Formats: sequence, structure tokens, C-alpha cells
Amino acid sequence: MGKNYKKHVAEMGGDPKKSAPVFFTKSRETIVQNGSFIPYPPQTDNLHYEVELVVALKSSTEIFGYGTAIDMTRRDIQALAKSKGGPWDMAKNFDQSAPCSALTKIEQAPDLSHAIISLRKNGLVMQNSCLNHMIWSVEEIIKHLSASVTLGAGDIILTGTPEGVGSVIAGGTIIGAVEGLASIEVSFTHG
Ligand code: MN
Repeated sequence: MGKNYKKHVAEMGGDPKKSAPVFFTKSRETIVQNGSFIPYPPQTDNLHYEVELVVALKSSTEIFGYGTAIDMTRRDIQALAKSKGGPWDMAKNFDQSAPCSALTKIEQAPDLSHAIISLRKNGLVMQNSCLNHMIWSVEEIIKHLSASVTLGAGDIILTGTPEGVGSVIAGGTIIGAVEGLASIEVSFTHG
């Protein structure tokens, strides 16, 4: 999901008051596990991180668990797509573009309503917000999506990123974290 935190909508040049839920797809094959080394992807000079709360489903309406993911984005390709009104696929759905943490089952998960969501790059805090700033709640997101497509067991929803997105280069390490859940760390190598 895109556009789910007002300050991120604003930093991307949008109007938070007119923000409506935006959905796009990342293939299952884009998932990368914690501790991975990822070759810097081709066709971009502006690879961005977006830390997001993950919701994993066990049925069309039930949540299996939660995690932390980083919605890697070829921002230059996305900007071009936006300017031409074209699809975002090549900006969002490329090889190894979804580093995702281990999941915490809902029975073991803490209350996430005021959990801190953050991302560190090379040790420095770049994104730091709170899940209570989400415009659309997890329940609302599932309801919205279900109105458009059939959801089911194994589906994974990334719920949008807070402000502070930025670029990472080859040699960089990023760690995404949601308080109380497993974190996700990946490093980028010279392709
Ligand atoms: Mn995102």
C-alpha cells in the first residue's frame, strides 16, 4: 500500500488531505530474508528504502502475524512512471525488492497501536515514526483490498511507509524495525 502516512505523502509532493489508498503488487519472488547481501539493482541511480509494517494473512479475513519489510523502490523509474501516468511495476516489483523479516504470530505479537517504526542506514536513524500515524488501519486496509481482489492465506501486505525515505548505495546497510517485532537487515553490494 502507498500513501498511508501524511508526512510521507507530503514529502513525495502529494496533498495529504486528498490522500486515498493506493495499492500495487510486489511478487512473492521479490522477498529477501534477514541478513541478505543484495546486488545493487540495475536501471537506477536512486534506490530508495521504505520501512513498512507487514501483515501476513491466514485467511481472507484473518491475520496470521506481523513483521517488518522494506519496500525497495527505484525512485527515478517511479518518478518517470508518475510523470507519464504509466505503471509502477518496474519501480517497485524488481528482483530482491522486498526484504522481509521473520513473522511474529498474532498470538505472540505485542500491542502495535503505538509501536515505533524506524529505519537506520549505516547506523544513522533515517525514518522514525509511530504506527498510530497510519491513515488507514490494518483492518481498513484489509477491507479496502478485499473489495477489489480476493485475499487469502499466505498473502502479505506492506502497509505503507512513514516520512524520511531516502537512497542507499552499494556498500550501504539498512535495518528496518517495528518495536516488538523481528527486524530486517540487508546490505547492498556492487552489482
Ligand atoms: Mn512503500
